[in-house]
Amino acid sequence: MTASVSLREVSCVFRSADKSVQAVDRVSLEVEPGEFFTLLGPSGSGKTTCLRMIGGFTLPTSGQIAIHGADVSQHPPYARPVNTVFQDYALFPHMSVLDNVAYSLMVRGVNRATRERRAHALLETVQLPDVAQRKPVQLSGGQRQRVALARALISEPKVLLLDEPLGALDLKLREQMQSELKSLQRQLGITFIFVTHDQHEALSMSDRIGVFNKGRLEQIATPTDLYHRPATRFVAEFVGAANVLQGQDALQYGSAPTSMIRPEQIRLQLGATPASAASARAHGSVREVQFFGSFWRVSVQRSHGFSPLLVDVPVTAASQAPGLGEVVHLHWDDAAVHPIKDSATADDLLAP
Ligand code: ADP
Ligand code: MG
Repeated sequence: MTASVSLREVSCVFRSADKSVQAVDRVSLEVEPGEFFTLLGPSGSGKTTCLRMIGGFTLPTSGQIAIHGADVSQHPPYARPVNTVFQDYALFPHMSVLDNVAYSLMVRGVNRATRERRAHALLETVQLPDVAQRKPVQLSGGQRQRVALARALISEPKVLLLDEPLGALDLKLREQMQSELKSLQRQLGITFIFVTHDQHEALSMSDRIGVFNKGRLEQIATPTDLYHRPATRFVAEFVGAANVLQGQDALQYGSAPTSMIRPEQIRLQLGATPASAASARAHGSVREVQFFGSFWRVSVQRSHGFSPLLVDVPVTAASQAPGLGEVVHLHWDDAAVHPIKDSATADDLLAP
């Protein structure tokens, strides 16, 4: 099957008089037709630059970009079968919602009746009834987001690029839009390439995720693989809470010099000297407890001088938070310990 979008060794260097910035460093990836693919990484890691190169707004310094198998590396945006939803939505303030949505059809000379019918249908699709005649300023943030989406979808792109489209919304609305956007994508069957710095958003929406660090892709994987089998320390720590063990500490529990254990994979046993404590992997005392609603995150100071471990303890109606200073014993299965690398190279990513 031909990839929907493929990047081969794509780099982007921004040069100015006094310095140059390698924004994207030899990124290779293939996005499949109908896939929800997310570019995840901290601010400044190269996500937007990568998306802009796919859209044609920035040209790569080197490497190839193909869409449906055709090399578009040097094509301008309008000559690419993709459309973009920008972070700030970029709606035209003086135009009605209907005209905003119908804009690209107007530019292409589609007659008024047809383009307004299509725009109304799309406003229906994004669940925005009855605002067609309003101006963008008369809408809430969530409604503006939907208008931007409808406007990008009206030209029926095979690929939609979305740069932090939910970033301006408050948490509750963002979570609602996440599930709506996901079901809309499934319903339309088009390829989404979605940029976010929010790991929860990435994990909950994506088919696959590419994790960016300093312009490089550290790992491409499904959400569950990324979470349970992070390739590198950076990925382990970026996509969730991680206990990273190094050197002697790692080697006492496995064979790799660096490994990680997720906090929820550790079981915490209370009490000074219960008989079963003899089988514990580590012993220590509670140094801090944070309440997260469904679990407590307990930081345990280990007895033998190794770094503290985070343990997530489920909260039930009957349970109490462990007390500060309390003696605890920690248990986990061998399978909970995952070897990781301190950093990835491009070669590692080419392996299946
Ligand atoms: P992200 O979207 O992950 O936050 P960006 O792709 O926007 O990251 O930026 C990656 C790096 O490239 C940053 O160091 C940023 O300052 C730099 N950069 C982005 N755009 C430009 C530009 N037009 N000129 C110079 N440097 C840029
Ligand atoms: Mg960005």
